[in-house]
Amino acid sequence: MQTNAANTPAVADGTLLDGLIVERSRGHYRVETSAGLLICTIRGRLRKELTYAESTQARRNVRGVKVNERDPVAVGDSVRVAALGAGTGVIEAIVARAGAAFTRADPETGQRTFTTIAGLDQMILVFAAREPAPHLRLLDRFLVTAEAQNVEAVICLNKADQGVEPWLDARLAVYRALGYPVIKTSAATGAGVAELRARLVGRTSALLGPSGVGKSSLLNALEPGLGLRVSAVSEATSKGRHTTTGARLVPLAEGGYLADTAGIRALGLGEFGTASGSGAGKGASRVRLDRLFREFRPYLGACRYGNCRHLNEQGCAVLAALAAGSLDAERYDSYRRLTQGDE
Ligand code: GDP
Ligand code: ZN
Repeated sequence: MQTNAANTPAVADGTLLDGLIVERSRGHYRVETSAGLLICTIRGRLRKELTYAESTQARRNVRGVKVNERDPVAVGDSVRVAALGAGTGVIEAIVARAGAAFTRADPETGQRTFTTIAGLDQMILVFAAREPAPHLRLLDRFLVTAEAQNVEAVICLNKADQGVEPWLDARLAVYRALGYPVIKTSAATGAGVAELRARLVGRTSALLGPSGVGKSSLLNALEPGLGLRVSAVSEATSKGRHTTTGARLVPLAEGGYLADTAGIRALGLGEFGTASGSGAGKGASRVRLDRLFREFRPYLGACRYGNCRHLNEQGCAVLAALAAGSLDAERYDSYRRLTQGDE
C-alpha cells in the first residue's frame, strides 16, 4: 500500500479522527478520514476485546477465535483512529456497524463465517434490455438476497438504447409497484446515467449483474476510469491477495463508495449467470423465504397454519391473494421455485 502524498493529512500526533476502512491487506487498514487516507494498524487491546465480544455472541464455534484475530474489523466499518503522523495511524475503536455485514464460510476450515464487507447498503442489479436477454428469475433471487441482508436494491436496465420490449416494461412496472426503484440507462448514449449517479451519492453500493450487461461501461459512463478502478485493478491483484482481504471500497467523486468486483465475488455475489452459483438461495435458506418477498408480508400472519409454506396448504392467505390477483404470479413462481429448491 502506498500513501497518496496529496492526501497525507497534516494533523498532530494522537489526534482522534473518524474514519472508514476502505481497504485491508496483511494486517494493515487503509482508512479514509476527514484529514485524508491513513495507513493504520489496530490497537492490540481492541483486537482482543473484539475477539472476545464476538466469540461470546457466537453460540457455537467459539474456537473460531483464530478467524476473528485475522479479521477483527472489516472493510466498510466505521472506526476512530489516532493519527500518528506521516500518513499513519492506529485504530482505537469501532463505531457501530451499520448496513449489511456480509459473512461467508472460512474457505480454509469451511466452518466459521466472518465479515468481508460491512456497511454495504445498496445493490444495483444490472440487466440488459435485450442482449444478453434479461432473466428475471435471477433478479428475484438477488432481490431475496438484498432483503435478507436489509440492503436496498435498485434495478438498473442498461442498454435501453436497444429498445425495451412491452413485456419487459410490464414486468418492470411490477417491480416499481413493489417499491424497487427502476432506472433505465444506456452507457452508450448516456441516458439515465445521471439518475444512476445520483443514487450512488452518499451510499456504499455494489453493482451486480451477469457479464455482458454493461457494468464496466456504466462505471466508466459514471466517472472516467471508474470501471478500471472497480474491476480490472482488483481482479489483477485478487489472486495474490489473502483470501480474507479481497474487499475494497472505491470512493466516488461525488461521495459514496462502490465495492470492488473481487470483493463482491468473494461473497459469492459476483456473476449471477449460473443456477446454483449465486448466494441468493443459500444466503436466504436460514431465514424464512416468505418474508423476503416483500409483497407477501401483509398476508403472512393470516395463514391457517403457522408453519405454512404457501405451496398447497389449506387456508393459505398467500395462495388466496394469488388467486384473487393481488399477488403477481411470476413473483410467486420465483418464490415457489426457491422454496422447493428447483433452482
Ligand atoms: P460487463 O461484463 O457487465 O462489465 O459489460 P461490458 O461493460 O463489458 O459491456 C459488454 C458489451 O456491451 C460491450 O460490447 C459494450 O460496449 C456493450 N454495452 C455496454 N453498455 C451498453 C449500452 O448501454 N448500450 C449498448 N448498445 N451496448 C452497451
Ligand atoms: Zn400460507
